[in-house]
Amino acid sequence: MEVLRCISCKKEVYDDFVKFKCPKCGHEIIRCLECRARGTVWVCPNCGFEGP
Ligand SMILES: [Zn+2]
Ligand SMILES: [Zn+2]
Repeated sequence: MEVLRCISCKKEVYDDFVKFKCPKCGHEIIRCLECRARGTVWVCPNCGFEGP
C-alpha cells in the first residue's frame, strides 16, 4: 500500500489528513490535520506554488 505523507511536515498520515488540489496546477496535495490547524506553509512539488 502506498504511504501518504503530509506535504508540510513529511510525516506519514493515515486517516488524519486532508486532500486538496493545488490551486495553480491541480496537483494533489496531502496535508495532516496538525499542519492544517497550524496553517503551516506548503509548497507544491509540481509547480512550486506556496500556499497556506
Ligand atoms: Zn503535517
Ligand atoms: Zn502546483
